[in-house]
Amino acid sequence: MTSLLQRWVTEQAERRPDATAVVMHGARLTYEELDASSNRLARTLKAAGCEQGDRVGLMLAKSPLAIVSMVGTLKADCTYVPLDPSSPAPRVAKIVESAEPRVILAEARAASLLSTLLSNTRLRSSIALGWMDSDRTRGQAFNPTFSLEDVERAPSDPLDYRNGPAHPAHILFTSGSTGMPKGVVIQHSNVIHFVEWARRYFNLGPTDRISGHPPLHFDLSTFDVFGTFASGGELHLVPPEINLLPNALAEFIRRAELTQWFSVPSLLSYMAKFDVVQFNDFPALRRLLWCGEVFPTPALRYWMARLPHATFTNLYGPTETTIASSYYTVPTCPEDDGVAIPIGTPCEGEELLVLSETRRPVSTGEVGDLYIRGVGLSPGYWRDPDKTRAAFVPNPMSSDPADRLYRTGDLAKIGVGGLVYFLGRADSQIKSRGYRIELGEIETALNAMDFIQECAVVAIPTDGFEGTVICCAYVPRPAVSVTPAVVRKELARVLPSPMLPSRWMAFERLPRNANGKFDRRQLQEAFTNDEAVAAEQP
Ligand code: AMP
Repeated sequence: MTSLLQRWVTEQAERRPDATAVVMHGARLTYEELDASSNRLARTLKAAGCEQGDRVGLMLAKSPLAIVSMVGTLKADCTYVPLDPSSPAPRVAKIVESAEPRVILAEARAASLLSTLLSNTRLRSSIALGWMDSDRTRGQAFNPTFSLEDVERAPSDPLDYRNGPAHPAHILFTSGSTGMPKGVVIQHSNVIHFVEWARRYFNLGPTDRISGHPPLHFDLSTFDVFGTFASGGELHLVPPEINLLPNALAEFIRRAELTQWFSVPSLLSYMAKFDVVQFNDFPALRRLLWCGEVFPTPALRYWMARLPHATFTNLYGPTETTIASSYYTVPTCPEDDGVAIPIGTPCEGEELLVLSETRRPVSTGEVGDLYIRGVGLSPGYWRDPDKTRAAFVPNPMSSDPADRLYRTGDLAKIGVGGLVYFLGRADSQIKSRGYRIELGEIETALNAMDFIQECAVVAIPTDGFEGTVICCAYVPRPAVSVTPAVVRKELARVLPSPMLPSRWMAFERLPRNANGKFDRRQLQEAFTNDEAVAAEQP
């Protein structure tokens, strides 16, 4: 087993230097090129002062260059932190302030985000900038420490690594209920364990052409990237501009002759809704995998009926336990739309436990809290021991203090044959368009606005692409008249678009239950019954 993620790239470069590693927009990067370019970048990062354990922020759109940057950062014994270039500056600033990167790698399309970020003098003085764009002129304004040309001039010979498998490979920031994104620290070994299992289970190999659909700040993308490199296949990055174009996505799978597709189910439901898949379409496709939310059975049946040559696997797991912890390959097309698809059985080295409130195993069929134990568990949240202690708890069935369980916040039951079923959330975390969102983060942002007296954000299920619609009930401050369009616009300054509510209702007073808390159930009913102001977008 490899000990460090980047070694897979070097191994493939030694074995099959001319084989394609990454493809996007017709441009190809071979394993040899990927290996050499990432060596050059690692040397440049070190020359810029990066030391073992330093963070490198990647303010780069999904591209072969972003992949080189991930691998180059690892080769410099550093930890990469993907920064969503389409996220509003205040949210990116929170992540950057927490991660304290030594270097940020950025390109021209992130220029305005970068200028807002670097207008903070403290950040400006503590972060070195690597300008990874051939358009040097725009980068001059930021006075970068190094440019793409400097990287290209650096020697490409191999480096010695000081990191080991337990060192962090990346930190992925996810929504935090108190308004502060949480950084999940992921070690090399976490990813290696999952990828090694997946490589064996799915029989991945050099003839595989693998989709790269999710953005690079989603943990699913780490399987696309490192699963490809472990098996020597081709990674086909899906251009984000076709994300919402079902026909274009189908055409992408056809043209690239993908053998594996992996995405959140909302996208697959969306493609089913627009009926873009023909019978016996995508003849090269061997497997279709999804993770991150429930794949509604009607849409699954649509896909399975059309692609009898492919296998369909449900992967389940939170970012905190690395990519996925359990799997279920659907044996045959479900006979009716009401069949529940389990999240299945644990991947190798993982354990799924369904426990009562007192953390004792519940009996078969009984609902309990889902905990995960095993090789995928993150060491915890970046510089947040309190949140880490709250979510990563000692295993009550073990006397070993190092034996930890991750409390997922999911409700589950164990069915016949030991298969685990996901039954929803025990808290207010939701998935919308595949994005993991804490409704509390949206409420915190709303409560910070001068013209909001109080607010409650709830989610309701739909059959649309979002899967779940975010709804906002708010009370304006006295004597203030503010329309949903105005509130939405203000919110868009601080939150990324998937977090913006699409239904709104203004109240004089929010409904409360007997305990004096907001009556969220009543609000959900009101939004479901369409008493809301329809989505108002500026
Ligand atoms: P994330 O950290 O973005 O991967 O989100 C993790 C959460 O997504 C889990 O705790 C579940 O609530 C949900 N989730 C992940 N995979 C599945 C799945 N296959 N089926 C249902 N829910 C899922």
